[in-house]
Amino acid sequence: MRVALLSDIHSNLAALDAVVAAAKEDGATAWWHLGDVVGYGPDPDAVIERLGELGASGVMGNHDAAAAGVIDTSDFNPLAAEAALWTAAEISTPSRDYLAALPLQQVDGAFTRVHGSLRDPIWEYLRTEKAVRAHFALQETAFSIVGHTHFPLVIVEQPGRPVDARVPDEGKAVKLGPARACVNPGCVGQPRDGDPRACYAILDTEALTVLFRRVPYDIAATQEKMRTAGLPEPLISRLSVGR
Ligand code: ZN
Repeated sequence: MRVALLSDIHSNLAALDAVVAAAKEDGATAWWHLGDVVGYGPDPDAVIERLGELGASGVMGNHDAAAAGVIDTSDFNPLAAEAALWTAAEISTPSRDYLAALPLQQVDGAFTRVHGSLRDPIWEYLRTEKAVRAHFALQETAFSIVGHTHFPLVIVEQPGRPVDARVPDEGKAVKLGPARACVNPGCVGQPRDGDPRACYAILDTEALTVLFRRVPYDIAATQEKMRTAGLPEPLISRLSVGR
């Protein structure tokens, strides 16, 4: 099965549609998202609708939890909080129900999915050796897939040695196993690695490969909708630079 891995879509419909079209060309037949479906961007209901059409399954991110009223925005930075409150006021009741029902983690065969980390599913960033080790200690499957940092990354466990964390090359398939690993496909709707193009990855569950992709999308269209919605200017301008 070829599964498209989509993380941190952040209500960016133009980015999602570009990714979906490209992933279909890559032969994707299943769709897993890693949370933060909403927040920051202008199209929360349309993005949730699209995921429904695709039959996507996924987990809850911190922005999803805030928009659904599962958590408050006290732990958000001011701009993220403003966007989260906008989203909470904007979304339909079915969208709110969808977000509130997202699980904190999901297991499909050899793959565990979580937004942040297994220790702290919606908040923890896997950015330090310590955090990654705590995550691997709780990982009961061979592989895990995460989002939240907005950076594509492959982390391989090396017993007795520091983990091996690598930024994957675009367009190149990474072979998984036999060591346990954690994969972040990067961010669909608000990349932060200096490249504004949308990220996704294609997981081949039989070959155990992950192919990392970048696709351009109509950034100006999303920015225009954000301006119309009155979303904070720094969230609009950062899309152009991928920061
Ligand atoms: Zn995010």
